Amino acid sequence: MSKTKGICILGATGSIGVSTLDVVARHPALYKVVALTANTNTDALFEQCLEHHPEYAVVVDEKRVQAFREKIKASIVSDIKILSGAKALEQVATLPNVDSVMAAIVGAAGLLPSLAAAQAGKTVLLANKEALVMSGDIFMQAVTESGAQLLPIDSEHNAIFQCMPAAYKTGQHSPQARRILLTASGGPFRTTPLADLPAVTPAQAVAHPNWDMGKKISVDSATMMNKGLEMIEACLLFNMQPEQIQIVIHPQSVIHSMVDYVDGTVLAQMGNPDMRIPIAHALASPERFESGAEPLDIFKVARMDFEAPDFNRFPCLRLAYEAIHAGGIMPTVLNAANEIAVEAFLDGQIRYTDIAVVIERCMKAIPVRPADTLDVILEADQQARAVSKQLLAGLDS
Ligand code: NAD
Ligand code: MG
Repeated sequence: MSKTKGICILGATGSIGVSTLDVVARHPALYKVVALTANTNTDALFEQCLEHHPEYAVVVDEKRVQAFREKIKASIVSDIKILSGAKALEQVATLPNVDSVMAAIVGAAGLLPSLAAAQAGKTVLLANKEALVMSGDIFMQAVTESGAQLLPIDSEHNAIFQCMPAAYKTGQHSPQARRILLTASGGPFRTTPLADLPAVTPAQAVAHPNWDMGKKISVDSATMMNKGLEMIEACLLFNMQPEQIQIVIHPQSVIHSMVDYVDGTVLAQMGNPDMRIPIAHALASPERFESGAEPLDIFKVARMDFEAPDFNRFPCLRLAYEAIHAGGIMPTVLNAANEIAVEAFLDGQIRYTDIAVVIERCMKAIPVRPADTLDVILEADQQARAVSKQLLAGLDS
């Protein structure tokens, strides 16, 4: 790693964005921050601009950009170019002096800029699993066609990538790897009596036992839809069949996933639950550098447990398998319905257990069709959102 690389961080103000800036700031000779983006949190973005002095800052929310522009103009970083609107995300993700793009927007909103980065042949550091799940083969094809490098940031997929054979590239099929053991913490409700689940609150659902994350992924971890999305993500990134992916509940979150080889060798990647580890791995790849994470204290870990997931407790896992088996637009529908249902749960509109009900009804309401173009995917995403919103209203009837 000699030349300083330019990085664009999509979703800079979120949990992954903040961790990325923390790691990047430890290696100023290796990374220069070119662009930072936020949706609405202009206070956090302003502080990040003062500290990291990017060339560009994007505020997606057009209502907030004017005040932000004035604040930047009056500051010591008045030369930063300010853009706004969703299109600006694609613009900064494809700038000529951007080498790497951290895709850390949450949800489907991250698809177009992440795809634009892939089409432009950038090194794409993918945290935004929803973008990949909803667009599937189209995203992977864009990576192959442009020669982009796609590096997983999701801790499990980063772990799997680290356990794959040397020189392995995402998207390739590795005949030596016969199975992936995808670990999951089981979330905050792993042992809650099933009868208590309908009454769990958003505050309880976002209180993850091991990881500190954004609200949406925290709810997804509680329902285990996160693991369902990650199973689909793993099939795409590692070119495997759903049957080759075994989900393993491992409540200590020390092993971040494993690869089972044809000779019976199982390789695992371990570390503290700190997203700076996979972020630093991807940023330094193929070398290594410091992440700021604490070294793993194996004596404090003391023991590791493993159990099979209970599909009755976690119906979202079953729905994710149904979606990937149905194929076509169904993973897009699954993802969109989940986004709507989780938002409604966080807003106090529906119960925790209704999340899976909405997704299942939405998947039943929309017939499967091939997902062969981006337009078909975007249309299926919109259709599933509209259907899910209607379903929210009729839940108790
Ligand atoms: P977060 O909610 O903390 O941050 C989301 C970021 O996206 C913010 O910067 C926000 O401004 C931006 N954003 C939200 N809506 C937007 C929109 N409509 N347009 C443009 N920008 C928008 O989320 P997070 O926890 O950092 O997660 C980000 C992504 O990374 C998710 O896809 C998540 O699944 C994935 N991920 C997160 C973690 C984690 O530890 N947090 C781990 C693995 C994967
Ligand atoms: Mg994960």
